[in-house]
Amino acid sequence: MKVSCIGGGPGGLYSAILIKSRFPDAEVDVYERHEPGETFGFGVVFSDATLGKLETADAETYADIRAHFAHWDDIDIHYAGRVWTSTGHGFCGFSRQTLLDILQSRCRELAVNLHFEHEVESVEALAESDLIVAADGINSGIRKQLEDRFRPDLDHRPNYFIWLGTTKTLDAFTFYFGEDDAGLWRVHAYQYEQDHATFIVECTKQTFERSGLAIHDEGAAIAYLETLFERELDGHRLIGNNGF
Ligand SMILES: Cc1cc2nc3c(=O)[nH]c(=O)nc-3n(C[C@H](O)[C@H](O)[C@H](O)COP(=O)(O)OP(=O)(O)OC[C@H]3O[C@@H](n4cnc5c(N)ncnc54)[C@H](O)[C@@H]3O)c2cc1C
Repeated sequence: MKVSCIGGGPGGLYSAILIKSRFPDAEVDVYERHEPGETFGFGVVFSDATLGKLETADAETYADIRAHFAHWDDIDIHYAGRVWTSTGHGFCGFSRQTLLDILQSRCRELAVNLHFEHEVESVEALAESDLIVAADGINSGIRKQLEDRFRPDLDHRPNYFIWLGTTKTLDAFTFYFGEDDAGLWRVHAYQYEQDHATFIVECTKQTFERSGLAIHDEGAAIAYLETLFERELDGHRLIGNNGF
């Protein structure tokens, strides 16, 4: 059996791991357009329930993930000068790049063939495969090419967000709210490795438009948000990585 996964993100890599570990004789290939260390975003968070499912599905990757994550139980909501703490939630956070490194390494261990800097233009290019896994992300080109057959039902929500990092340390899953003349900005932030936290800021379309910011101008957004959340950042800077 020949299996081809289009996309070397968490979806494509983990599919390859599960298929190859169940069908060791299968030839499994993953095609990723970028280099191995090139990704977007900062930390990712998994709930304890998700971790439990990963343990059942592949104990080896689970053990590797466990060795790298930061774990916490509390959610802190900072609003109007007060902090509400809700406890007993059970989450872990770690770097998205670390997750990809762990999955790539497990693929190699299982003899999955990884092809980087390899763009798949269409499923026809992989016609010799018995199974093709389209794991090419939220804006999947394969889903678009085959939309007459897949007939996807997409519901795009109007809010805007930017995925940033910061060196501020946090000991809980943290929510901040910032308000200015443009409107309300919501932050959710969490630690994912020593000295680094994810800092995601979301707002409505109207707030974004009133702010005068522009999509893809990450530098201007960082300057704006560092000023708005100056007190919460407590002297720390925000860090960008193509997170719009
Ligand atoms: C701000 C933000 C925060 C998030 N936080 C979390 C979190 O805390 N926890 C969590 O579990 N999830 C989180 N997610 C969601 C998570 O990022 C996605 O669920 C996950 O990345 C989906 O994995 P994927 O492999 O399906 O797609 P992707 O990660 O998008 O990977 C798709 C890959 O396919 C490649 N590709 C695309 N087209 C082609 C092609 N034609 N040929 C070759 N390669 C191609 C791309 O380069 C990419 O590497 C977050 C997402 C965002 C935006």
